[in-house]
Amino acid sequence: MKVSLISLGCPKNQIDSEWMLGRLKEQGHRFVKPYNANILIINTCAFIKPAVDESFELIEEALVSKDKNGPKIIIAGCLVERYGSELLRKFDGLNGIIGVNRIMDIGDVVDKVCRGENADFSARPDRLSFPEVERSLLSPRHYAYLKIADGCSNRCSYCKIPSLRGEYRSREFSSIIKETSHLVLQGVKEIVLVAQDTTLYGIDLYSKTRLPELLKELSKIKGIRWLRLLYAHPAHFTPELIELISENEKVCKYVDLPIQHISNRILSNMNRKISEKQIRNLIEKLKNTIPDLALRTELMVGFPKEREEDFEKLVEFIEEVKFDWIGIFKYYSEDGTKSSLLSDQIPEEMKEERYNILFESQRETSFEKNNSFIGRNLTCIVDKKVKGKFECRGERDAPEIDGLIYTSGDAKVGEFINVKIEKADDYDLYGSQT
Ligand code: SF4
Repeated sequence: MKVSLISLGCPKNQIDSEWMLGRLKEQGHRFVKPYNANILIINTCAFIKPAVDESFELIEEALVSKDKNGPKIIIAGCLVERYGSELLRKFDGLNGIIGVNRIMDIGDVVDKVCRGENADFSARPDRLSFPEVERSLLSPRHYAYLKIADGCSNRCSYCKIPSLRGEYRSREFSSIIKETSHLVLQGVKEIVLVAQDTTLYGIDLYSKTRLPELLKELSKIKGIRWLRLLYAHPAHFTPELIELISENEKVCKYVDLPIQHISNRILSNMNRKISEKQIRNLIEKLKNTIPDLALRTELMVGFPKEREEDFEKLVEFIEEVKFDWIGIFKYYSEDGTKSSLLSDQIPEEMKEERYNILFESQRETSFEKNNSFIGRNLTCIVDKKVKGKFECRGERDAPEIDGLIYTSGDAKVGEFINVKIEKADDYDLYGSQT
């Protein structure tokens, strides 16, 4: 069959898409653009309302443009976990649905819908496991996301993810090493470790966290240049991990540390299991131990009961810490979450106002930080060539979410080059190769 897949949401969902494509490739299917496809798979996201709306819109669009010869449409991902078989009733013309833990059955779903039958593979299997199939990467060949665990048991009061992706489960150590070695043979030089909570890796399978050990083993794989850590939960960040990041030259001096807020009252209502003091101590230790550390965080504004003084505290805190990058989210009251039952929900306009204040404050910090790189030589990886210019990233830039470095001259996509920074703007840097 001629298959096309649209992948929405986070890198963890992208990996699921890559595993599904890998399975279909194994079964002889080939990949084409959506307008040429017999089978269109939409791997959806559904953790907050805007993501649900985007998924619904894309499904409706696909169904509208589908005529009798159009592609069979299959929905995968978190939307299936959130709504299940109801999706087949809601969307007339939809052919199949498949749950996040059934992705290795994608071939059977394709066979079934090609026989003209509807396929409902939304039921969660008894035994959850990680695919061992070779992924068809959707990222450029020189970097790849690496899933080390899935699901989450942290139960933050605002979060749907535990109900969508299940309890926290780590992947076998050996399976991660094996897949990474294979990815490197395919030309991957940068590995980006992801999970809902990477810092808890191993706790369920080995009764202890093994992330430092895993990073150490991964760093022994020849050909890897950068190991990058995303989704590190501040409550589970160990001194061993700080030491490993600071000492291992292949581990990027980069930490993505979602703190969500800094007011103790809000942190406890969020069930983040950490206090302001502990967050401050951790950040201080990280900055003192890891030279040149790039620090990213995620923050939420408009959580129920967020008073003016809680929000001011958050603004003061980011102006004090000066994060390199911040992802800002407005709180959404999601059905089935504990926080949706809280009183004092914040009006949308006030959420918007607080979002803009935080955004503007961080834009200034980002501009200031970027300017401090002028005159410095940075090792960069070349992601792509756009209109004769090379779009690159440094050690402080994760793919798709942080800043970029632009340069010209002679280089190849996937290559490491040195760039002397000459100019900076709010988020990006510009320079010449040295
Ligand atoms: S750590 Fe909290 S916010 Fe993140 S996935 Fe788990 S429950 Fe959700």
